[in-house]
Amino acid sequence: MNKASRLFCPALITPKNAVVKQTEQLSRSQKLLTELGLVKSGSNGTYQIMPMAQRSVDKLVDLVQSNMQLAGGQKITLPILTPTNLWKKTGRLDGDISEFYMVRDRSGKQFLMSPTHEEAVTAMLATTSPISYRQLPLRLYQIGPKFRDELKTRFGLMRAKEFLMKDMYSFDVSEEKAGETYAIVSAAYDRLFKQLEVPFVKVNAATGMMGGSVSHEYHYISPVGEDTLLQCSSCGFAGNSEVLDVKPESPVSCPSCKGSDLKEVRGVEVAHTFVLGDKYSKPLGATFLNTSGKPQSLVMGCYGIGITRVIAAALEVLSSEQELYWPCLLAPYDVCLIGPKQGSKEQSAAELIENELLSKVGKLCGHQELLHDDRKELTIGKRLLEAKRLGHPLTIVVGAKAAQQDSPLLEVHLSKGEKLELDINEALKLVAEHSQHKKNLLNCSFLQDKEEYISQSAGQQH
Ligand SMILES: [Zn+2]
Repeated sequence: MNKASRLFCPALITPKNAVVKQTEQLSRSQKLLTELGLVKSGSNGTYQIMPMAQRSVDKLVDLVQSNMQLAGGQKITLPILTPTNLWKKTGRLDGDISEFYMVRDRSGKQFLMSPTHEEAVTAMLATTSPISYRQLPLRLYQIGPKFRDELKTRFGLMRAKEFLMKDMYSFDVSEEKAGETYAIVSAAYDRLFKQLEVPFVKVNAATGMMGGSVSHEYHYISPVGEDTLLQCSSCGFAGNSEVLDVKPESPVSCPSCKGSDLKEVRGVEVAHTFVLGDKYSKPLGATFLNTSGKPQSLVMGCYGIGITRVIAAALEVLSSEQELYWPCLLAPYDVCLIGPKQGSKEQSAAELIENELLSKVGKLCGHQELLHDDRKELTIGKRLLEAKRLGHPLTIVVGAKAAQQDSPLLEVHLSKGEKLELDINEALKLVAEHSQHKKNLLNCSFLQDKEEYISQSAGQQH
């Protein structure tokens, strides 16, 4: 079980009359995360993730991994340092490289601190080439830090110089097979974003510096988003303006329903998928032996999810100015339990209830998901205020009314401000319901054709 008294959560205390030098633009989620001690600012544009936020990151990593595994993914780890000569071969070093960190080793050899790994993973396969068509498809993914020397870091984890990404690279025998892989991984992305319960839009995207033919972006809609999207108010279809080929003066119609009511919204890009073809495999010589034993270029796709950005953007969309609100599966804890204050007259009677709840709630939601605010030197009010700002899905207060002999009552606070007065069994029922909702999300019970879907993805591996 987790005790608040032991939790390293370095809240930012700014003296009332202090002059705060604003070094970067803050979003409300970033402001709350920093003030509450979940994230600390490192050097400009880098962030230190504190234990409570790390729990959320770890939960998202687990969720992403389970979806990647279902889509036939195999996890690998590639070095952060990629020799720049690989990027020379694919021509990407000739593009705009102002956002890349370059380092030299003592012999003068130059490396990129990789912002993405197409070259590295393709070169790795090239050194094992030719592989047999029988080994394909291959879907390799990793989760690790990525680097980008942003001119303007903004909104904390949403646009930082170092961030956590999941990147998958797929290798197939043909365009057609690469299309099948694309459909399977895209379905895994759709499923993941539904599990997070944050409204998202999926847009057809321009392929940009990645090259390739087909591409989609996943966006959370928020005023702090950096991309301008056009969304159809009839069917919800969204596209970015470059793809929709918007010209001033000429009316645009929705490519999906032909409706004409398209409005501009701002999007935060949280994931991106590409069919790459042989853009990387050809120059780097990554081949396979086809059925007639002839070497042929591998057909690739790549698939990214900004792990830390998903969390920051989800919080930005869901939270208020005063309180965080987490996607159910990403909340650091499910339940926060606040006991009576030291020396209060209800202390001994209420502590009996508190102990009973510690064991029963822990059993229902898992002891790791329970945060016990055992800082009894603090008033209930002070601890409750903090719990509400942190946005725990359920906060249970064992206060004066819990000491009533005949009918002990608990105060239960739900995130988004709802407050209930319940007896012990009713409170436990809420905890059980919350745990069940999480299970349903993890099992994707929102998918009607789940059985069919999962057998389809699993079948693709063989
Ligand atoms: Zn439409």
